[in-house]
Amino acid sequence: MLIEAGGDPSFLSTIPMASLGLLGSSLDWQYKTIPNNISCLSSIGEQCRFSRGKSLGGTTAINHMLYIRGNRYDYDRMNISGWTWKDLEPYFLRYEGLQILDQYPASSRKYHNSNGTMKLEYFDDPRNPWHTRTVEGLKQLNIPFNKDLNGEYQIGVTKVAGYVYKGERMSTARGYLARNDVKKNLKVAKNAFCTEVVIDDDNIARGVTVVQNLQKVTIYARIEIVLSAGTIGTPQILMQSGVGPADHLQEMGISVRSNLPVGNDMSDHHLPVVIVKVDHGGLVDSLVGLTSKAPQVLQYLASRSGPLASNSLQDIVTLINTNCYDFDLRQYSGNSSLCELADMQIIQSYIDKGLVALAKPLVKQAIGFNDQVLDQIEKANENHGLIIFSPMVLQPYSRGTVRLASIDPLQPPAIFANYLGDERDVEQMVKSITFLEHLMKTQIFKKHKASILHLNLPGCPAYKCGRVEYWRCYARHMTYSGYHAVGTCALTRVVDEQLRVYGVKNLRVADLSVLKNIIRGNTASVSIAIGERIVDFLTEEDNP
Ligand SMILES: Cc1cc2nc3c(=O)[nH]c(=O)nc-3n(C[C@H](O)[C@H](O)[C@H](O)COP(=O)(O)OP(=O)(O)OC[C@H]3O[C@@H](n4cnc5c(N)ncnc54)[C@H](O)[C@@H]3O)c2cc1C
Repeated sequence: MLIEAGGDPSFLSTIPMASLGLLGSSLDWQYKTIPNNISCLSSIGEQCRFSRGKSLGGTTAINHMLYIRGNRYDYDRMNISGWTWKDLEPYFLRYEGLQILDQYPASSRKYHNSNGTMKLEYFDDPRNPWHTRTVEGLKQLNIPFNKDLNGEYQIGVTKVAGYVYKGERMSTARGYLARNDVKKNLKVAKNAFCTEVVIDDDNIARGVTVVQNLQKVTIYARIEIVLSAGTIGTPQILMQSGVGPADHLQEMGISVRSNLPVGNDMSDHHLPVVIVKVDHGGLVDSLVGLTSKAPQVLQYLASRSGPLASNSLQDIVTLINTNCYDFDLRQYSGNSSLCELADMQIIQSYIDKGLVALAKPLVKQAIGFNDQVLDQIEKANENHGLIIFSPMVLQPYSRGTVRLASIDPLQPPAIFANYLGDERDVEQMVKSITFLEHLMKTQIFKKHKASILHLNLPGCPAYKCGRVEYWRCYARHMTYSGYHAVGTCALTRVVDEQLRVYGVKNLRVADLSVLKNIIRGNTASVSIAIGERIVDFLTEEDNP
């Protein structure tokens, strides 16, 4: 039986262009981080948004749908038997249903499969000239165009494939749960909030308690239990069940069943939101402008095509190692193996002129910046289109923690994301912004009068008084989550190589919480591979 706290994904969630509208909606757990005084300073309450999907398909029902598997090295360096790239690659391939393989270079073929259950395609064309202009600008910086960031090597700019099929989102609910063979064999309990694993006196997991329709019920397992509630939900359930750091559990009055570092060492991509003003040319984009864009709506409804089947500019993805870029020569050095390991990933989206004023409540709900910042963005948007650049720190040093905030399992846990807790992440953000400053100097960006918005931020020096100091301060204000948190129930720390929770029998975890290191890329790919991986563990003959 599958137990899910949410219900079915909504129609809105099937429309690729609508993903911004899902953040802060009823399909989102609407978590926020606990303030740490050194990051997220321009978010309401100094708390970064920490969105997570709450429906069948989980976060794949609300995410940006970019398909990137990370670098092979990310898996190899975990140094865990059964979890190297060589071990995991077959599981990525098992689910991969790449429909556009014929458009990839021949050298890519061996890295892909077209027949898996998760169908992947290119997004439709947003018909926004900044789509090609962005690629052009990066080419002018001599960033190589790499058709396949999941192939031979990972560096460059690309138009990436997405979890999108025939113009609709390909969530895991669509890829797996909607299949007839799955429907036949799987019972699903929707709107059922799991509060605890029932563990008996011999430390054997027997079942779970759930709250559904205000009723608390216990569901017993015949064989074993697999928790897949994600990097936040899984540690919360484990700690409520007495599996976690003994001192924290004792403090919460929970008796300890297994003393484990649950909730520790959370790692998440984070980024400074960088806003670029550009000239405006009556562009097609963004869901919030739909009332005036009836033709696009009709096109989407009739044929699932057109700008609404696109992902704005977000499918243009750049991965580079900023240490390997020579700004004077405008050259990317490919000389060392380090240069094959990206430390920055850029995506961007577009806001048409005047849209912030039209959709301020939605922007506020989705992004969570305070009024002081939103007002400045709104003003800049009065006469300009805006490109919002998200240059993610791909290998952050800062680590966070998840703890129970209350003994009441229905209350959200405390997420101490601790972004920028390590100064090196601030420096990485400054490097990323420097790269974007250089992008603004390319012919194509200059031609369209692109300039980075220097927000007036309390406590920050003026830009003209010191560029680097300003950007350091800016990064601490305009911090934003990459929404890729991993590691709160990590392999070899909380679960063994077969994903069994140490100290408790018949209990496993299969979601991103088990990933020890964050990958250089977007994380849905790995979470699905982990799902495929556990299938073999559960069905292996020698499984005790
Ligand atoms: C805004 C956003 C954009 C993103 N963009 C991308 C992208 O473009 N590409 C990409 O690869 N990744 C992206 N990601 C990240 C990616 O989607 C997630 O990392 C991945 O889906 C997480 O998988 P998971 O299985 O670990 O957890 P989840 O997908 O979060 O699944 C956990 C499930 O457990 C349920 N649950 C939690 N607690 C309970 C409970 N107590 N009882 C019952 N059910 C519970 C949740 O409702 C959810 O359905 C994005 C994430 C966000 C938020």
